[in-house]
Amino acid sequence: MASDIIKGLGTTLREFGRKPVTVSYPEQQRNLSPRFRGRHALHRYENGLERCVGCFLCAAACPADAIYIEPAENTPEQQVSAGERYSRIFDINLLRCIFCGYCENACPTGAITLTNQFELAAQWPEDMVYHKEQMLDASGVADRGNAADWYPQPPEETPQSVPARQGYFDGGGASAAAVGQGDLESRKDILLGSEFESKG
Ligand code: SF4
Ligand code: SF4
Repeated sequence: MASDIIKGLGTTLREFGRKPVTVSYPEQQRNLSPRFRGRHALHRYENGLERCVGCFLCAAACPADAIYIEPAENTPEQQVSAGERYSRIFDINLLRCIFCGYCENACPTGAITLTNQFELAAQWPEDMVYHKEQMLDASGVADRGNAADWYPQPPEETPQSVPARQGYFDGGGASAAAVGQGDLESRKDILLGSEFESKG
């Protein structure tokens, strides 16, 4: 129909002068939102101990059943984490993961965060199961990840709830710091800093 052709040409003309939104990936990279959620990282304290205390809260919060943990007891001879237990095995199946971030919200010690790493292609399905050794901060590196970027400035109109804003899951003071092994600030301090305090 002639009217359809004219309509189509109109759309073409309308878009003609606009800047393209596509980029020549991988030569060009897009700027990611600071709140972008990619694959996970596991973190350490400044004293080298692992933050993960093998509590399973992240696995319980995971709606995709993507996290598998086997904990083990710390001993005086082998103190791995800042709690009674540590995760001997910590696997995340990224084929199941929906990158919702519930695991980092649930973690009382800030041990797990989602990074902005999104290049996750693999030849075999089993390579998409990430092990603790692949996700853990290198020895000597203490990193809190990018979770702090997610919470301080959520857009006012965001439809998602921001658990830390309401103080949910703020169990930081009751875990690693309580056993005197960690330098842990409360989770709300880590995530929101003075902004949270001033908002009450
Ligand atoms: S991001 Fe969501 S789906 Fe992925 S492991 Fe964490 S809780 Fe599970
Ligand atoms: S919630 Fe945190 S401390 Fe507990 S098992 Fe998961 S990563 Fe480790």
